[in-house]
Amino acid sequence: IRSGAVHRRYLLKLSGEAFAGGGGLGVDPDVVHAIAREIAAVVREGYEIALVVGGGNFFRGAELQQRGMDRARSDYMGMLGTVMNCLALQDFLEKEGIETRVQTAITMGQVAEPYIPLRAVRHLEKGRVVIFGAGMGMPYFSTDTTAAQRALEIEATAMLMGKNGVDGVYDSDPKLNPDAVKFDALEYGEVIARDLRVADLTAITLCQDNKLPILVFELLAEGNIARAVKGEKIGTLVND
Ligand code: UDP
Repeated sequence: IRSGAVHRRYLLKLSGEAFAGGGGLGVDPDVVHAIAREIAAVVREGYEIALVVGGGNFFRGAELQQRGMDRARSDYMGMLGTVMNCLALQDFLEKEGIETRVQTAITMGQVAEPYIPLRAVRHLEKGRVVIFGAGMGMPYFSTDTTAAQRALEIEATAMLMGKNGVDGVYDSDPKLNPDAVKFDALEYGEVIARDLRVADLTAITLCQDNKLPILVFELLAEGNIARAVKGEKIGTLVND
């Protein structure tokens, strides 16, 4: 366990892609329901789970920029997209009987609380799942970087990165190269030197500077979230 971190508290980053299921765009309720069931199971076991939710299933600022839009404005669209994912996840978690709070970095009082770190921690201590939306509220950042920052601020033990269709970090893209080799463990420096795309560089260096371990694993395999929080050997662990 990381020094200063809270035992059994984890930050789970879910990419927007996962929410879309096979569709690529929008939200697939069946997939969100399945993810919610897995999260609910570990919360019932006494783990404290905070979530950062991506928005790539709606908009990515950099992609809209390439198609002629202003970068900052399209980043705000990206951030707003994450909030829809948060609400979908909140709904299915509540249906599982889990209390939840959504906190957004862009205030929108009718749908979510504002991001208030100490309050988020209180929610976690009470067994509620906290879902962080709208990234950091700042253009030019990613939800990966948000996840690292939130994990640090709430003193999570590790950042768990649930991926869609890949069970860890490989030396080349396993979807393109059948001989790609999976790493069980990596150091931050190797991730950066080999440009391994675990997360964006801003996120990786933030984790490195603060010794926050990152576990990259397949999100949609049944039981994997439980395996991740229990420290079983799945995926790829990025550490010092
Ligand atoms: N975004 C941003 N600032 C943040 C977080 C996100 O501007 O702090 C925008 C950015 O445009 C990004 C989009 O929101 O492309 C969706 O987030 P991300 O691409 O990280 O989602 P994921 O790839 O995890 O689905």
